[in-house]
Amino acid sequence: MELRVQLKICEGCGCLWYRPETQQTVYCQQCKTRLREFPMPHTRKRRGRPSREILPQIWAVAEAAGGLL
Ligand SMILES: [Zn+2]
Repeated sequence: MELRVQLKICEGCGCLWYRPETQQTVYCQQCKTRLREFPMPHTRKRRGRPSREILPQIWAVAEAAGGLL
């Protein structure tokens, strides 16, 4: 049986690796095992403190809009 592979650049560490055509992952074997030990970024986001950087921007826009009216 012929196994086709593609040369891929790992999105985790940037190294070059060969991916079998049957796989869809974008990470090399090393990163895959490493990522399995950590929660995915989008599940981690919920817990951190709420970001305050957005609020001053909103107020600045509201102020600017209020000044124009
Ligand atoms: Zn990697």
